Amino acid sequence: MGVQLRNIRKVFGPVGVIHDVSMDIPTGEFAVFVGPSGCGKSTLLRMIAGLEDTSGGKISIEGTDVTWQEPAKRGVAMVFQSYALYPHLSVFENMAFSMRLKRAPKQDVLDKVMEAARILQLEEQLQKKPSQLSGGQRQRVAIGRAIVRQPKVFLFDEPLSNLDAELRVQMRLELARLHKQIGATMIYVTHDQVEAMTLADRIFVLKQGVVQQAGKPLDLYDDPDNKFVAGFIGSPA
Ligand code: ADP
Ligand code: MG
Repeated sequence: MGVQLRNIRKVFGPVGVIHDVSMDIPTGEFAVFVGPSGCGKSTLLRMIAGLEDTSGGKISIEGTDVTWQEPAKRGVAMVFQSYALYPHLSVFENMAFSMRLKRAPKQDVLDKVMEAARILQLEEQLQKKPSQLSGGQRQRVAIGRAIVRQPKVFLFDEPLSNLDAELRVQMRLELARLHKQIGATMIYVTHDQVEAMTLADRIFVLKQGVVQQAGKPLDLYDDPDNKFVAGFIGSPA
């Protein structure tokens, strides 16, 4: 169960960017895809989300083949680095949006949004517009929006890369706390080795669309399979 990828490929025209990637991410794991810019991290994540078709292979989520299922039915919620908040809506309405679409009962909406706001310490910000928030608060709203949807799988694409160094450290701790608290499967994409090392239960190191090595952070650090992994994770080969 969890998320399974079997022989996933992606080509853009003549160019192959993901080559035969297979992995099993058990339910509740915090998995991190790490690798240099352009190695295919976002493409892989977008295929899991259903925002990009696969060119081959199979994707399953909690035992269901979702390879050709539309994004909204997959039970995933994605958090982007650009936040993608609705500027004209309040923080509350931004977080409530997906439940409003589903015509959820008012009390349900209130309960879920308040719970997410509490987890993310946004209770004081609920009536503000995104433009009145700091960068860190905006990113929290984007995460809150995902929490309200109660997805089986959270997908994060470099969610902290627009924040300054101090805030990144703080948000990293919050994400770790969030994972502990709600225990959902999380797949997190970053090119930042420190983020990968501190957040991951398991790291997948990608290079040019191929998984070089997968393992616990310290196992990769202590026993890298090749020079690329060693260089990327930061210990001598
Ligand atoms: P990463 O997120 O690791 O930086 P991406 O998944 O964004 O990498 O991109 C992997 C490769 O696929 C890059 O060479 C990129 O230029 C290419 N690519 C991504 N999206 C498209 C697209 N829509 N059309 C053509 N090429 C793309
Ligand atoms: Mg990317």
